[in-house]
Amino acid sequence: MKYCPKCKEIMSLKQIDNQLFYVCDSCGYKEPYDTSNLYVDVVREERVLVLQKDTTAEPTVKVECPKCGNDEAYTWIVQTRSGDEGGTVFYRCTRCKYTWRVYT
Ligand SMILES: [Zn+2]
Ligand SMILES: [Zn+2]
Repeated sequence: MKYCPKCKEIMSLKQIDNQLFYVCDSCGYKEPYDTSNLYVDVVREERVLVLQKDTTAEPTVKVECPKCGNDEAYTWIVQTRSGDEGGTVFYRCTRCKYTWRVYT
């Protein structure tokens, strides 16, 4: 997690022109992302995203869980704030709670 040096809001990781930036949704400040620790950070941000999510309020769809073969999962879409990039569709298996995602 990284905080904006200007307004102290949490910055989000975004891909702009095939480069990664930390972008502050509040004031628009951005800075290039150091890709040397890319894997660790992306994984950490996804986990935060997933943990914060209360899936029990989400609709379920018929989709096969890649882990246990169950055919029902909660689904939700994470949209970037700019709206011109595609959203990411998340699924969470209703049985084993395995979470995976699909890019749109
Ligand atoms: Zn800011
Ligand atoms: Zn499952």
